[in-house]
Amino acid sequence: MSVLIVGSVALDSIKTPQAQHPRLLGGSASYASVAASFFAPVKMIGIVGDDFPAACLRLYKKHKIDLEGLQVVAGKTFHWSGEYETNMDNRRTLKTELGVFETFTPRLPVSCQKSEFVLLANIAPVLQHHVLDQMRQPKFVVADTMDLWLNIALPDLLKLLKRVDGFVLNESEARQLTRENNLIRAARKLHGMGPKYVIIKKGENGAILSARGKLFIAPAFPLEKVMDPTGAGDSFVGGMMGYLATAKGPVESNIRPAIIYGSILASYCCGGFGLSALTRVTRALIARRFKELENLTRF
Ligand code: AMP
Repeated sequence: MSVLIVGSVALDSIKTPQAQHPRLLGGSASYASVAASFFAPVKMIGIVGDDFPAACLRLYKKHKIDLEGLQVVAGKTFHWSGEYETNMDNRRTLKTELGVFETFTPRLPVSCQKSEFVLLANIAPVLQHHVLDQMRQPKFVVADTMDLWLNIALPDLLKLLKRVDGFVLNESEARQLTRENNLIRAARKLHGMGPKYVIIKKGENGAILSARGKLFIAPAFPLEKVMDPTGAGDSFVGGMMGYLATAKGPVESNIRPAIIYGSILASYCCGGFGLSALTRVTRALIARRFKELENLTRF
């Protein structure tokens, strides 16, 4: 079963205390699609300008990502730049140049409208709605978001939450959206807004899944060195959705291992700049880290 993924496709310029890399392939759709591709066929919906490097297209193709829904139009590809502080926890956005992203209206080819698993990766909620409007009968829809949309598009986001099965957000976003400091109570409030599955990401402290009151605590894979955490959240949710699309049985039975696979893809993402580490991953490496994490948490 394939996963349909809509989100941003970007060229990212990233600065850490150690290094600086300009114009790397990035964007929420890129990270999520590559992560999902280790488990399931992926159809990606997005937009790029005519400056988009051919090498980036080749990278998607290497991961067998279906690009029928990727619009290539005259103009500049979305460019985002960010800088990390010493501890890699705090990130500052330096520049956001929307380029062709400003005029993006997702158009789904017929082949994409029947996808059963849909990931609305981080993108303006109005565009996430637009994708859902074109879907026939999706079986499982998950939305991701970022603080920007909580600040400038809250009514659209709240409407979206009534249309999705799962919602993924980080802990500060959960607190902001619910005005609730305690994450268990925040998750309960988030269920009240619509989604059956609420997943709160806590960076290096793992993630919490709440599925109608039942909790699952997922650890993050412990890393000695983080090179670049950009896209870790997108890789997490991409890995999770890719696994869910091919796992046998109902989502309810598969969501816990799916989150662990998400954590593992996120950990690989942090091991290199941009997508460089994620694209070198194999199924065997994923299986090895899955086992290691199992051993680290068994008691
Ligand atoms: P994350 O580290 O998981 O928050 O995701 C980082 C990615 O989000 C980068 O590759 C950026 O290109 C992308 N990004 C940054 N700002 C936006 C935005 N306003 N809309 C969509 N994607 C964005």
